[in-house]
Amino acid sequence: MTAASPTAPIAPDLLTLPRKEAGGGRPNLVGLTRARLRAALVAAGTPEAQAKMREGQVWQWLYHWGVRDFASMTNLSKAYRALLAEAFEIRLPEIVSRQVSADGTRKYLLRIAGGHEVETVYIPEEGRGTLCISSQVGCTLTCSFCHTGTQKLVRNLTAAEIVGQVMVARDDLGEWPVPGAPKREDRAITNVVLMGMGEPLYNFENVRDAMQVVMDGEGLSLSRRRITLSTSGVVPEIARTATEIGCLLAVSFHATTDAVRDKLVPINRRWNIATLLAALRDYPRLSNSERITFEYVMLKGVNDSDADARRLVKLIAGIPAKINLIPFNEWPGAPYERSDWARIEAFADIVHKAGYASPIRTPRGEDIMAACGQLKSATERARKSRAEIAAEVEAGIEAGIEAGIEAGIEAGPAAPAPEGQTIRA
Ligand code: SAH
Ligand code: SF4
Repeated sequence: MTAASPTAPIAPDLLTLPRKEAGGGRPNLVGLTRARLRAALVAAGTPEAQAKMREGQVWQWLYHWGVRDFASMTNLSKAYRALLAEAFEIRLPEIVSRQVSADGTRKYLLRIAGGHEVETVYIPEEGRGTLCISSQVGCTLTCSFCHTGTQKLVRNLTAAEIVGQVMVARDDLGEWPVPGAPKREDRAITNVVLMGMGEPLYNFENVRDAMQVVMDGEGLSLSRRRITLSTSGVVPEIARTATEIGCLLAVSFHATTDAVRDKLVPINRRWNIATLLAALRDYPRLSNSERITFEYVMLKGVNDSDADARRLVKLIAGIPAKINLIPFNEWPGAPYERSDWARIEAFADIVHKAGYASPIRTPRGEDIMAACGQLKSATERARKSRAEIAAEVEAGIEAGIEAGIEAGIEAGPAAPAPEGQTIRA
């Protein structure tokens, strides 16, 4: 099958749109779960007796056919189309720029309400195509090796903005079905990973609702086993990932002692390695067929020794797991270096001999800064200085963690952040 790289040019290609404020005030139908969509249709005047049927019809137009205006919903009466157009919008993020790497990776810079920007990356591989989507603008956590964590402005994405990333990528990849044409067997986007900007478990409800839309059998229709959510270790939300979303889990582990992990992944100061591992051992869906992926960034001289590799396999003993080794991707001003290739292989070997798959993740799209941890909206000027990052890490500032909590993490199922809400500026 073709994992859709057909038109990828060799040189980066840039498409730029003029700035414009998104949003016209009417409620957006994109990103609503089926139940919410039905409720919205009823609130707008759809008779209760028709609500189920209307929900099914509108859903199919939005997510199976990918139409963007009510006039194209041709199996609805003209009067009903007018009612919908009066009451609602179909609003998606706007592609500001699209860059294509020499290796076919595509990076989209998207503008969302409030003029904020997020990045989405499409990675074509033999037999599959992975879309890496963002869950927040920036990230409140300040992992010291991650470029996203240096962005000052942070807000949660709405479910519409999360689903919208999949929809605009489908537009660009030409993946929507064409009426009358035979059903295509090949899919451009076969997998979705929540590994872009942001901590998905600090925006749980919106991520969950968005994934329910993406996983629905009618429409985007990606199976839960083809979705992977990556967390830095927000322990209280981990079990819900299994029970309320059901997708696969990846954990940004990155260190084998609390002293080192405190520095690399500061959320470790709140939920340390032992607490995190206990939550993973209890993960409701854990099995050999649904292993947890431990992500481990290889930082020269920091976390990459043989002793680290041996400690790692001891720590995770008994957890069905795969260890994904990520060669550090550099960004301007980054305070670390990538481990040497021989070191990464030696580390992988120890992990492999202990019985764990230990793939080394090939960096993709490095020439367009699309690789793991390099994302940060290019036009986002506000940026922390190296000194500020170092001060936060050294002083053990819990600012980012606290900001995440304010955003609803300990308040339980809080209302989604209103559009444009800035958690920290
Ligand atoms: N916030 C979530 C998901 C986004 S990051 C999380 O932290 O898990 C996706 C993965 O890339 C994480 O494992 C993250 O730690 C890793 N990463 C971040 N910066 C990186 C960099 N510069 N080089 C390599 N991997 C990086
Ligand atoms: Fe946030 Fe993940 Fe980057 Fe840490 S690694 S700053 S949690 S995006």
